[in-house]
Amino acid sequence: MKKYLVTIISLFGCLSILVAQSYDENFTKDRLRLDLYHFGTDSTENYSLKRFVRETPYSGPKNNLLPEQLHASYILQVRRRDNDNLLFAMPFETMFEEWQDTKEAPNRKRIFEETVFIPYPKIGVHIEIIYQAHLGNFKKIWESYFDPEVSETEIPQQKTDFSLIYGKENPQKAVDIAIIAEGYTEAEMDKFTNDANRMTNHFLNTAPFSAHKEKFNFYAVKSVSTESGTDLPGENIWKETAANSRFHTFGSERYLTTLSYHQSMDLLNGIPHDQIIILVNTDKYGGGGVFNHFSVVSSDHYLSEIVLTHEFGHAFGGLADEYYSSSTAYVEHPDLNFELIEPNITNLVNFDKKWKHMLSDTTPIPTPDTKEYDEVVGVFEGARYLSKGIYRPVRNCRMKSNDTDFCPVCQDILVEMINYYSESESD
Ligand SMILES: [Zn+2]
Repeated sequence: MKKYLVTIISLFGCLSILVAQSYDENFTKDRLRLDLYHFGTDSTENYSLKRFVRETPYSGPKNNLLPEQLHASYILQVRRRDNDNLLFAMPFETMFEEWQDTKEAPNRKRIFEETVFIPYPKIGVHIEIIYQAHLGNFKKIWESYFDPEVSETEIPQQKTDFSLIYGKENPQKAVDIAIIAEGYTEAEMDKFTNDANRMTNHFLNTAPFSAHKEKFNFYAVKSVSTESGTDLPGENIWKETAANSRFHTFGSERYLTTLSYHQSMDLLNGIPHDQIIILVNTDKYGGGGVFNHFSVVSSDHYLSEIVLTHEFGHAFGGLADEYYSSSTAYVEHPDLNFELIEPNITNLVNFDKKWKHMLSDTTPIPTPDTKEYDEVVGVFEGARYLSKGIYRPVRNCRMKSNDTDFCPVCQDILVEMINYYSESESD
């Protein structure tokens, strides 16, 4: 908590003081949903508000409203309007930023749908979105306000049938995962329940989640699609589905996402969620994961369960891909003069802030990518789509390939996130 305060206040020059305030003083049991538009070009960006929505319930932690880990390009902040006290923060990543690295971005403006959720305020608040260009470099890019007395707020009537398929914890003390049925017709709802249970069982038997099973709740969201399957734009196949998912995102066939995010979020009113999995009814290989946005995965490929855990590493842990050989639709060109944001990669500019404490004194930096170092936590060159200049913690990890587990560094970060949502440290 202290580290966070110093970082934010010194870099923003803010006068605000973080005072330990009880959740109940500032927030109700509901959640405030902000539907946003994120738009721009490869070098410009801005936000606009579409609408405020009052939904139920707020399922995030009540005591930990300010995460220590802010490893994302974007940070949502909520402050009291009367005294500027910081009440809530949430790091997140965006499809817009990925699109900025595509070939299309220099030549046209595009708009992307995003939604963020905060506890529903009892008092007037400032809502800000901060951009972190590189580790520790913050810039405010959007600011608005919400006043429960005067701000126009919709209350949705749409309710999707859902059931708790695993867990029993109070949502405030658990990681709540909502699995949305996508591309399942009414007649396929039993298949969805079976698929959701199969994915959940595999997830809970994967380290580090397996050691923290009691801290998870899984909800099956039985959203009905008119048609079965998903869009395959590369084959000119289009389906009418609940979340409007698609392969071929940004030109990459296996990149399975939805760009209809607001429509997808309409399915979740009344359902607790800290993380959203969109389970797509297809046997085609693919997936996508964006930090505190979504995990998307196909249901019936033989690797689907493993792909889900990889995508969840992005969506829940904010982890970077550790691979560098596969092609992606967009090629990021990070400024290697500054330390990278994601916690499981480094360019050795500020390695002290990464996993240096997990290296033994005898491990060379960089570490040779040879068999001798198979089981060693080190600094191996090649990660996040670049074979040079970016380093990963182990030779192989679930964030690098489908044939191994999460590495110790990624596991530590995931456990930290589990503890944040389940408030384990304050129990
Ligand atoms: Zn890893």
